[in-house]
Amino acid sequence: MSKKIQAIRGMNDLLPKDSDLWTFVERTIADLFISYGYKNIRTPVVEKTDTFCRAIGQATDIVEKEMYSWNEANGDSLSLRPEGTAGCVRMMIEHNLPREGIQKVFYQGAMFRHERPQKGRYRQFHQAGLEVFGVSDAKVDAELMMMTHSLWQKLGLTNVTLEINTLGSSEARKSFREILVTYFSAHKDRLDEDSLRRLETNPLRILDSKNKDMQSLINEAPKLMEHLDVESAQHFEQFKAYLKSLDIDFVINTRLVRGLDYYNRTVFEWTTNDLGAQGTICAGGRYDGLVEKMGGKPTAAAGLAIGLERLILLMEEQAIAIKTKQISIYIIAPSDDAQLMSMQIASLLHDAIAEVIIYNDMSLASLKSQFKKADKADADFALILGEEELNNGQVSIKPLKSQEPQQTLSLDKAIKYFKDYT
Ligand code: ATP
Ligand code: MG
Repeated sequence: MSKKIQAIRGMNDLLPKDSDLWTFVERTIADLFISYGYKNIRTPVVEKTDTFCRAIGQATDIVEKEMYSWNEANGDSLSLRPEGTAGCVRMMIEHNLPREGIQKVFYQGAMFRHERPQKGRYRQFHQAGLEVFGVSDAKVDAELMMMTHSLWQKLGLTNVTLEINTLGSSEARKSFREILVTYFSAHKDRLDEDSLRRLETNPLRILDSKNKDMQSLINEAPKLMEHLDVESAQHFEQFKAYLKSLDIDFVINTRLVRGLDYYNRTVFEWTTNDLGAQGTICAGGRYDGLVEKMGGKPTAAAGLAIGLERLILLMEEQAIAIKTKQISIYIIAPSDDAQLMSMQIASLLHDAIAEVIIYNDMSLASLKSQFKKADKADADFALILGEEELNNGQVSIKPLKSQEPQQTLSLDKAIKYFKDYT
């Protein structure tokens, strides 16, 4: 026998046993986003490396060390996308879409980052993301929160917290940067290696550090919130007013600066303490400067991304059972005639019942063994095509998950029975 081949570390298969949960989550997300007027888009998994460097910023973890990049024979550097916003913005500009007015789009797909794999952190992972272009008002920031808040409810999640902050305008950030550099420079002896480097490249990111030894230094650092420009301060007040009117609880976390460079004003994360260190399930904010930075016309924009693996881990952690209206039927066909008939019946059931799963017997085995297969498939009902039933143009229905008795009906009545059941 040849040696078995294995998947790459940090890149996972979706197995049949987990498929229902993933499908439920992805559908719930798509239905919700569509119901708020968002359109599904798809961009390539591969883009020019420059697309990500320009959008995300050179001095970020992603661009510094997490991208899968390579050179083509012609010298072009290409990369697997580490996130969805850069490609989306590239697409919007390339197709002149911001000119056509407000744009609301969403995507779901695989992202790639060369990180150390651990629970909730993988090298290939999946995000569902939203982006809105052409609205500078805080109303759209609030709508993003309204949608995600509603999503957690639809999925049955509890114990998630909304953390918000504002980064102000890029000008306010620039002058705050000086203040921060002065502060941290005076305490260089207390900075770790990473932070010393960031002091030169991206001092705001020092606030993001998880290093325990630096926490008191960071807690006493000057706060951007206290050095905001007037418009950004107003924007933040409006954002909070919307959240209050929506009854969405939040906490202000002045250390929330986000790992990507493109944000301004509003930033937020939905976090949980049920997942250990990888507790952020959704993150995003406003990025009004990005479209212009990527070569488009100045266009206000905001967006977010949900980490689907973490969301699903959290659902498993909280033992959330998914609710679907689906009804599953195993067609038991113990003879050649019955096998022949089962195809027509399956087809009629598929046409008549919206959310049905039909397991049409493929074992062609004995009656007893087909019943075992029905149990194994976890079907709600067995639909039995016995000899007597066939002769009388009838079918028998046996509920497999309740004590209700078996009954024999015409096919029309059986279909009605299943429809009433869903
Ligand atoms: P973290 O601080 O955990 O590294 P991040 O700031 O790098 O997160 P974002 O770029 O904001 O993450 O991505 C949005 C969401 O995507 C995260 O909140 C998380 O849920 C998910 N995510 C990011 N990186 C990974 C990964 N390597 N594996 C699984 N999910 C991830
Ligand atoms: Mg990261």
